[in-house]
Amino acid sequence: MTIGILGGGQLGYMLALAGYPLGLHFRFLDPSPEAPVGRIATRITAPFNDDSALKKFAAGLELVTYEFENVPVETARFLAERVPVLPPPAALEAAQDRLNEKRLFQKLGIAIAEFAEVADREALDAAVKQIGLPAILKTCRMGYDGKGQWILRTAEDVSRARNELPEANALGKHSDSEAQQHTPFVLERLVPFTRELSVLAVRGRTGETAVYPLVENHHRGGILRLSLAPAQQLDRAVQQAAEDAARRVLDALHYVGVLAIEFFEHEGRLLANEMAPRVHNSGHWTIEAAVTSQFENHLRAVVGLPLGSTNAIGCSAMLNLIGDVPEPAEVLAVRDAHLHLYGKSPRPGRKLGHVTLRASSPEQLASRLGELPSYFHRPEFSLEAVLRQSASARR
Ligand code: AMP
Repeated sequence: MTIGILGGGQLGYMLALAGYPLGLHFRFLDPSPEAPVGRIATRITAPFNDDSALKKFAAGLELVTYEFENVPVETARFLAERVPVLPPPAALEAAQDRLNEKRLFQKLGIAIAEFAEVADREALDAAVKQIGLPAILKTCRMGYDGKGQWILRTAEDVSRARNELPEANALGKHSDSEAQQHTPFVLERLVPFTRELSVLAVRGRTGETAVYPLVENHHRGGILRLSLAPAQQLDRAVQQAAEDAARRVLDALHYVGVLAIEFFEHEGRLLANEMAPRVHNSGHWTIEAAVTSQFENHLRAVVGLPLGSTNAIGCSAMLNLIGDVPEPAEVLAVRDAHLHLYGKSPRPGRKLGHVTLRASSPEQLASRLGELPSYFHRPEFSLEAVLRQSASARR
């Protein structure tokens, strides 16, 4: 059985690695000739809008899934006329636009930060008046890893951002409904959150669901650096709220596969920030530290196999290797450390691999984190802060 995957980055790479033991074969489509999956599977290098390449890609496939949420919805729909596409293209559509996403969360009764649409430069002042400062301005589409965002704390920040926004005329705003379709920015209240959490959930073809424990995430410059799984010091009610939210989204979209939702924990409550209709960086720990990895469960779901247990095995930390990588021998000298290198050439800001550390208790995890080589003691990992925090939690 051959599965087609749109996008050939590290998520696709790890999907294939999880799928080979299940007897699955893979074919990838990615516009970049550098896509790392070329090392381990058939790869078609073509733009997502190349119809003849899409037909060639789809020929003989059992189904198509994706590892990149900015695959054009038209590409997914074009393929869906030929072969099942899972998760359904409607999930891509909901996740590609922050406004669609927020409206879906609201419709399903999932709490989010207060927000206002910002159609153009002229609309920014009214939005700031409504939301207040500090706030965060985000592009509705194509933003990822903190790109396309401006934090607004002062009136000067607002005027600087205003100059970067397009004028109303530049957007070709002809009618209200058209303006609404193309709303390019959203202004959100800057949430003074306690921490960031994410949930990974999976829904199978027959509607059964399973949810992983919540994960605590530490970002720097909008990029995930470190995840702790399961999140420590977690209220049972918070885990329950995350599971309820995930199941509501999965069911509403008739979803099949793994879905991630990122939250802010604020005053003991969860506010949903965004979702990703795919396997997710904050789920990489599941490879070694859950009974079934997110990658295997995604494949089980789309193929129609029973889902595997989402229980964690002990506790773990996942650290992203960004821009450059540490000396493998120094990482692997730490007990229960696992190294994953994606085979990508180094470039600043690029995710090149990750390390997962496993332990049987939070205390043991903290001590193993402390043993990591100097690479991980750079400020961007917030490792010292995480260790301080976990020490004070235990006191
Ligand atoms: P996003 O692209 O929405 O995931 O945002 C990237 C990062 O910016 C998040 O992981 C947060 O650290 C921060 N961030 C985004 N939105 C907000 C918000 N409304 N309040 C506070 N921090 C935010």
